[in-house]
Amino acid sequence: MREKNKLTERAVAAEVVSSGFCPLDCDYCYIPKTSEMERMHGEIVEKLKTGEWMDQLEELYQDVEYLSFWGTEPLLILDEVNEQIDEVVERFGGLEQVSFSTSMCVDPSPIVELKEKLDEHDVRLDWQISADGHYTDENRIEGATEKIKNNLIKLGKMLEERGDELSVKWKGTISIDNIEKMAEDPEEIERYMEYYDEIRDEVVEETSGIDFENARKFPTLVVPGKYTSEDGEVLAKYLERMVEKGYLTTYTLRLKRVMRFEDELEEKPSMFSCSGGDSNFGMDEGNVHVCHRTFFHDRERYIQSIKDQEEYKNWDVSLFEKGIVDMEVENYMAKSGEDLIRFQYILRNFHDHWMLKLDNTKVMLIELAKCGQADEIYLEDEGLRELLALFLHSSHSCPVENLLNTSVVHFMPVSLIRLWSNGAFQELLKTLNDSFAERQDGIFVGGS
Ligand code: SF4
Repeated sequence: MREKNKLTERAVAAEVVSSGFCPLDCDYCYIPKTSEMERMHGEIVEKLKTGEWMDQLEELYQDVEYLSFWGTEPLLILDEVNEQIDEVVERFGGLEQVSFSTSMCVDPSPIVELKEKLDEHDVRLDWQISADGHYTDENRIEGATEKIKNNLIKLGKMLEERGDELSVKWKGTISIDNIEKMAEDPEEIERYMEYYDEIRDEVVEETSGIDFENARKFPTLVVPGKYTSEDGEVLAKYLERMVEKGYLTTYTLRLKRVMRFEDELEEKPSMFSCSGGDSNFGMDEGNVHVCHRTFFHDRERYIQSIKDQEEYKNWDVSLFEKGIVDMEVENYMAKSGEDLIRFQYILRNFHDHWMLKLDNTKVMLIELAKCGQADEIYLEDEGLRELLALFLHSSHSCPVENLLNTSVVHFMPVSLIRLWSNGAFQELLKTLNDSFAERQDGIFVGGS
């Protein structure tokens, strides 16, 4: 029987804020780095140690099946999680998976104990390492690749001693600078792909405790970025190179998924939007967030420290200045009770309806094409316009970035529309092989 004043049964995944400091300062990170972060990190860890976060989860969720630890670098606090994991499993009987993402540039030892404890309870450990191919040191921090290799070997040996092993998953992010290099010189694409093989070869030479079997190398784009139509042409060139080399892309798979489940498009729009604010929510200090992307936005001292910075290091600091973050905190976060019903209602509007999203993007495409910021083909070809809009809202579905960049949760940032509408989408379609052409005309969803 559903308990009132809680999230609905659909909410089965919880993202918990777990760290507030990071030893890295990646170019594309959406978390502005300030001097306030060390103090904030200390505060977060002290709170985590109390176990109150489990009380807050119990207060909000019917049950938790997927638990993940977010913030800057969760590996810094995994020891604390290990102290509490038995209690977590006891309190959330439906727990199936625990996950985190890491730079793997700090001591990996706590992962061994976490794996052991979760195995005892038959709960899956799902983790990923952020590494951007041979651009890793350039994008993230000098020496990152060496640290990742050494920490993987260390972790592997510790697991091997226990007759255990772990599979690796890579999370690669590429900036427009990286894409430009690969567009200009196809050998750069090979170097990107070979990077992961080189790490694998060096690690498996030292230990059998790390498995690279299913480690995918496909990168994702920095989103939403501040892309120009020229950047769009660069992405088109890069995709053309990928097609020449016969490489698929993450976005090929995302578009194929829309094709494969086209019959569900009308009935189940939420099947094609991200899980944030649908089956998955973030939780910090009893505040419910759409997801991890808005963590720290409701921490006044940290936000003030960003505004007080003399020189801005991070491109999205303007969001804090313009009051957009204030609007987000006021309207797109909630505490338990009445407010939670309002919060879930507005997010259902995002997940359950296509028309406003698609129509807005189609109009933007026409306006951009009229002023030379998108390919003219989007003025004439209604089918392609419709398909690109559908692709953008299924492959780049992010209510938080929409909100932060347009102030409307349904509207796609113009940066991403420009990125894909200057030839890149047509190149992407080539990676879908012949079967695509036959079915193009049949894919319309709602709208005018
Ligand atoms: S896509 Fe955006 S809203 Fe969804 S989980 Fe990711 S950051 Fe959050």
